[in-house]
Amino acid sequence: MSSFHDFGLAEPITRALADEKYVVPTPIQSQTLPVAMSGQDIIGIAQTGTGKTAAFALPILHRLTTNKLPPERKSCRVLVLSPTRELSAQILDSFRTYGRHSRISTALAIGGVSMGAQVRSLMNGVDVLIATPGRLLDLLQSNALRLDRVECLVLDEADRMLDMGFIRDIKKIVAKIPKARQTLFFSATMPQAIAELAGQMLRNPVKISVAPVAATADRVEQRMVHVDRASKPTVLAEVLKREPIDRVLVFTRTKHGADKVVRGLIKAGIAAEAIHGNKSQNQRARVLAAFRSGQIRTLIATDIAARGIDVDGISHVVNYDLPDVPESYVHRIGRTARAGAEGIAISFCSPDEKPMLRAIEKLIRFSIPVTEHRISPRPAHHSDANGAEGPHRAEGSHRANGSHSANGSHAGNRSHGGRDDQGRGGNGARGRNGNGPNRGKHRRSRNSGGPEVRGDRAQKSGHELTAVAFMHRGRPGDQRTPR
Ligand code: AMP
Repeated sequence: MSSFHDFGLAEPITRALADEKYVVPTPIQSQTLPVAMSGQDIIGIAQTGTGKTAAFALPILHRLTTNKLPPERKSCRVLVLSPTRELSAQILDSFRTYGRHSRISTALAIGGVSMGAQVRSLMNGVDVLIATPGRLLDLLQSNALRLDRVECLVLDEADRMLDMGFIRDIKKIVAKIPKARQTLFFSATMPQAIAELAGQMLRNPVKISVAPVAATADRVEQRMVHVDRASKPTVLAEVLKREPIDRVLVFTRTKHGADKVVRGLIKAGIAAEAIHGNKSQNQRARVLAAFRSGQIRTLIATDIAARGIDVDGISHVVNYDLPDVPESYVHRIGRTARAGAEGIAISFCSPDEKPMLRAIEKLIRFSIPVTEHRISPRPAHHSDANGAEGPHRAEGSHRANGSHSANGSHAGNRSHGGRDDQGRGGNGARGRNGNGPNRGKHRRSRNSGGPEVRGDRAQKSGHELTAVAFMHRGRPGDQRTPR
């Protein structure tokens, strides 16, 4: 399925997707939606960043929208279990966003905050409850909640539940849910214990598996240029002139930034066009057609605008600004590795963007080789306005383990913060991002085990959990976006 209109989703949902500028379903979405909408159980092997939240949220919202029932006290129709508070809050945000025109009630039950507000939010019943297992059991024990009305159960990040020692809690919870239900089970990996759990929970499930997003990064040659913010325009023009470019997609964080880059390039004698949300549909279509045909080789885009771009033959991606959301880095560089092709991704990192670089490297579990340093020796005070990093290091000092060289040859040691390579699914309740030993494998061989690599969801939002618990009735005009 190549469009969200092909699935027959209820109109309020497709409208919300249009608001979000989702045009093309991701692979997990196009495979999951028809199966989930037919009522079958699903076992989905997919990690964060693949679009799996919408893959389960959309069919659930469709079910609730097309079969409205008055809420039952202290009950929910859909229960989503997730391992962490952060992930739970993000799932809630997704339901609120995709359900913003659907008048669906939602509630969050997570630990670490007082139970009172959660008990109150459940009093009259809700359509969708998103919960971490421990707090859910507390609510069940205190009779604030019953699970005998659950029609649909979602288990998200099941392997992480195992890591965190939640499997017994999950079994206790599942025992209280009617057997006649639909179960949607998602996990990034499928160790034995998880396969057994799935076997107990699911009825004739359809198995759907998609490649981890981080795997895309394997096929792309990645380079990092440390550069002062003020030097970015000059360095970009130099890069575009010296690289053997067929087609290049340059990403900026803002629409305004995209236009500025275009102006700078044109001044430097490089033809370029921008595509972003402020352009009319006609302008976008014209620019895209010119890019596709090769008439324009340099296209500047924001993340949102680039989502709809389906162009093969992009030889280079340049991250003029690093993305706030680390998964976007993987999506961006994946533009150049379409249909099995390899490509080159060159990223600019100004001193104030170093926290973003750290988040990206943590997600991809790989220290991106630094091929150039274009940082002025004096501290560039404007760049440090956000208090990011202190005085700049002298040329040649690189934070990560990997040695760097100007010609791009690089040892590519992985660094910091990743899980150790021995895999998940062991017996230990290991920390989510234990400081496993660095392993100096060559970058091309990393992730060969496939599903091992995954993102830390909490990294993604930068979203503080200030709301302890709340219930929401989606309504037109609610402008909250998921992340
Ligand atoms: P998830 O794997 O659910 O964490 O989703 C990854 C990111 O992709 C989220 O920021 C979503 O908002 C975004 N996303 C999900 N599906 C789509 C889509 N079909 N088109 C564009 N963005 C999407």
